[in-house]
Amino acid sequence: MPGGCVFCKIAAGEIPATVVKRGDGMLAFQDLNPQAPTHLLVIPTHHVATLNDTKDAALLGKLLGFARELAREVGIAGRGYRVVVNTNPDGGQTVFHLHLHLLGGRPMSWPPG
Ligand code: AMP
Ligand code: ZN
Repeated sequence: MPGGCVFCKIAAGEIPATVVKRGDGMLAFQDLNPQAPTHLLVIPTHHVATLNDTKDAALLGKLLGFARELAREVGIAGRGYRVVVNTNPDGGQTVFHLHLHLLGGRPMSWPPG
């Protein structure tokens, strides 16, 4: 685990998070600073810094499928939701451990800021 990675620490249970779903090599938990009534983060449990660094393309499919299942389970699938992967500084990434934001529970605007 790269020292100091907050999401690695959450995956290892070393810092608290409200975990809502566990999967094969994946984890979903509540965002600390929610931007919508439902704001969950889906991460691989092993460290991958950004979308650019993901060597295993199949992992991306698994994470997206996991987010889709989670959306159904938390009841936002029908009305709709947004999945976001901020990548590097221009993409707004602040935590450098790959994560999907699952946002829902309110209408989303477009374009994003
Ligand atoms: P990003 O800007 O795409 O890198 O998103 C990072 C997200 O992680 C932000 O929405 C933060 O609110 C969230 N976050 C940072 N630290 C924690 C934490 N310890 N537990 C839960 N969410 C966190
Ligand atoms: Zn990490």
